[in-house]
Amino acid sequence: MRAITYQAVEEVRVQDVPEPAVQDPTDVVIRVTLAAICGSDLHLYHGRIPGLVPGYVLGHEYVGVVQEVGPQVRTLVPGDRVTGAFNPACGACGPCRRGQYNLCPNGGVLGYGLAFGNLGGTQAEYARIPFADTTLRKVPDHVTDEQAIFTGDVLTTAYGAVKNSGLVPGETVAVIGAGPVGLMAVQSARVRGAGRVIAVDLIPERLELAERLGAVPINAAAANPVSRVLSLTGGDGADVVVEAVGGTKTILMAFDLVRPGGRVMAVGITSEETLEYPLMASLSKDVTFRIGVANVVRDIDETLSLVAAGRIDPTAVVSHRLPLAEVPDGYRLFAERKILKALVVPD
Ligand SMILES: [Zn+2]
Ligand SMILES: [Zn+2]
Repeated sequence: MRAITYQAVEEVRVQDVPEPAVQDPTDVVIRVTLAAICGSDLHLYHGRIPGLVPGYVLGHEYVGVVQEVGPQVRTLVPGDRVTGAFNPACGACGPCRRGQYNLCPNGGVLGYGLAFGNLGGTQAEYARIPFADTTLRKVPDHVTDEQAIFTGDVLTTAYGAVKNSGLVPGETVAVIGAGPVGLMAVQSARVRGAGRVIAVDLIPERLELAERLGAVPINAAAANPVSRVLSLTGGDGADVVVEAVGGTKTILMAFDLVRPGGRVMAVGITSEETLEYPLMASLSKDVTFRIGVANVVRDIDETLSLVAAGRIDPTAVVSHRLPLAEVPDGYRLFAERKILKALVVPD
């Protein structure tokens, strides 16, 4: 089959690789009908994640049709149209039994290299999905592939962060970064009752989209985001700040935007090992700081329902639809911030 494989730093290509097969009895193999390039794939592309070898298949966002099921799969049959978590979970271990599916030691991340479970990726014609009963969901008939794919990562990552923040209806949410995850955070905050949502970015087109989705835009290239957020909130700061970039500077900015007693939720995938923690600001403002990988298995039913009901439109961020042959160029343009969100159509 044809797949997008890692070759070297900043080099991916379309390559013929063996088709995946059911390996474990809880596996499903899907024929991928839609994949995507994700911001977190850029860390792989730039060589910042250890455990990548040439020929490794990339990609972790997907919709597909079940092709083959392992003998212990109970909820799916060939022909089912499915999407699912980028981070499969076994459903049986201690963390999974506590509902902390994102901490499953038996899972990993699809297409994220040897350090994350050595699972093959989904930017391919076929993909093996482990622990299919826990990881996958059938897509409701009236939800399109392009809507559904966001529930496996980008939307649910953002939605989970807003949910974990304990947002109280009426509160103000500031979102740093109006990329795909940030724009989903804007929509998630609104759907969960935020009184006001503020979006901070540097790219005018992204801010325009954020505004269309209901946020007050702040261009950090033209205005000081801290003074703007303070003036919008009567000098308090935002109740919740969602950091959707994954940089240390933007995490530090979040501590300046948040009100005393507020919550900072970092969802941008980072490749930094450490951060110089703003201890004094955190102490004097009594800030709660949370960072973690999204618990997609926990929240995907909720996000699928919201999309099915038309309350969130994740496709607002789609800017490109690429056949496999154009994906290598897509990575380059995405790295240059010339693409907001590229979907990948494998056939
Ligand atoms: Zn992703
Ligand atoms: Zn588990």
